[in-house]
Formats: sequence, C-alpha cells, structure tokens
Amino acid sequence: MAEDPITEGDLAEQLAYYSQRAPHYDDWWLRRGVFDKGDAANSVWFREAGVALAALEAADLGADVLELAPGTGTWSVHLAPRAATLTLVDGSAEMLAHNPVTASPQVRTQIADLFTWDTEERFDSVVFTFWISHVPRERLASFFTRVASWLRPGGTVFFVDDAPVSSSEPHVAATAGQKMVRLLNDGTRATIVKNFYTADELVDAAVRAGITLQVQETGTLFQYGLGRKH
Ligand code: SAM
Repeated sequence: MAEDPITEGDLAEQLAYYSQRAPHYDDWWLRRGVFDKGDAANSVWFREAGVALAALEAADLGADVLELAPGTGTWSVHLAPRAATLTLVDGSAEMLAHNPVTASPQVRTQIADLFTWDTEERFDSVVFTFWISHVPRERLASFFTRVASWLRPGGTVFFVDDAPVSSSEPHVAATAGQKMVRLLNDGTRATIVKNFYTADELVDAAVRAGITLQVQETGTLFQYGLGRKH
C-alpha cells in the first residue's frame, strides 16, 4: 500500500482541476505560453511526441476503439479516422467540449468517472494518453484488470505518458509522494495524482491482468506502451 493513499476527495479535486484548466490545456501539448521553452527544446518535444505517435499509428487498433480520459482530443484526432466506432469516456464536460472529434458520426462520448465506470461492451483496443500517471498506486492493478475486461481476446492496449522530467514543468508547484500541486493560469493551486510508474511496474500490473505489455521511452520526455490481451 502506498504511504499516502489517495482519497475520493483527492480524485474529485484532480477532475475539477482539469475542468478548470480546459480552456488552456492545449497550451501544454502545443508548447505555447509558459510551456514555450524555445525552438531547441520545443523541437525535442515534438520529435519525441512523434515517436509515440508513430507507435500508435503502427499499432493494430481494430474496428472498435475505447479511449479513456481523451480530454481535448490531442490523440482522439488520430484515432477517430481509423475506427469504425470510437468511444470516449472522460469525467470532464469542459475538457470534452474542446475535443474536435465528438461530433463525428462514429464517435460516442460518455461523461463518467473512470474509477467507477464500467460497460458490458467489448473493444478491439483501449487507448489512454497521459492518464496512467493519474491513477493512484493502490488502484493500478484494478485499473489494468478493468482494461483487460473491456478488451476482446487479442485486443490492443496503447498508452503514452510523461517521464519524471515533467516535474520541472512551469505549472508544477510541488510534489510529494504520489501527489503533485499544479498551478492554474489564475494562480490558484490544485492537488492531483501524479505517479511515474516504472516500466516493470506497468508490465507487472498488465501481466497480472492478462495483458502482455512492452514499455518504451521516447528519449527523455515520454513513456509509451503497446500491449495485447491474451
Ligand atoms: N488524453 C488527453 C491527452 O492526452 O491530452 C487528456 C489527458 S489529461 C492529463 C487527463 C484527463 O483525465 C482529463 O481530460 C480529465 O478530465 C480526465 N479525468 C481526470 N479524472 C477523471 C476521472 N476520475 N474520470 C474520468 N476522467 C477523468
């Protein structure tokens, strides 16, 4: 058990943080405003992001794709054109309001808490980008068990997330255990969950759930993984 187990209140604060941040969220991914660190650093960011995207593009996602915590749709835009159906599940209507694929005919959107959401539908692939680091350690095993339950046999898992170097980003005010204090644009602070899982921790949790997972790094900034349900 982690030293600082995450409460329901902590998870609610994390979700509320993303709703508040929604109008500015894409500044982070697009390296705008405070995230613009100059041409050299930005080009490393986009090059490494491209490595993870290439891995997604090369993955066999099948027809029916489930994307967990899609937010503003940075990765949904790469999934929607390839999917017969794309199901988006995110707890924040404010984040989803910026997601450009929600109006596409093959896309279904659900606003739900991913720590309790479930479905009897089964999918060819489950994708979660910049989400696994927000899953509390004490919920990691059950998260992978639930992902496996949503997959058809032979189904694909893809994820990408931050490497630990992201703790030095300008919107990080403090870190302690599995919590991180984030600064919003108006100067207010919010505490979120932020875990930098090792490849071994993720592979172990996945294998216990019946998923074979390979985890790689893009260089310095991102970690990504591709898995298959047995
Ligand atoms: N996948 C997007 C990306 O790659 O940019 C967004 C990732 S963002 C770091 C985390 C997302 O998780 C946000 O869209 C937020 O609304 C969502 N989220 C946070 N807590 C949640 C919860 N308990 N249930 C469902 N979604 C949640």
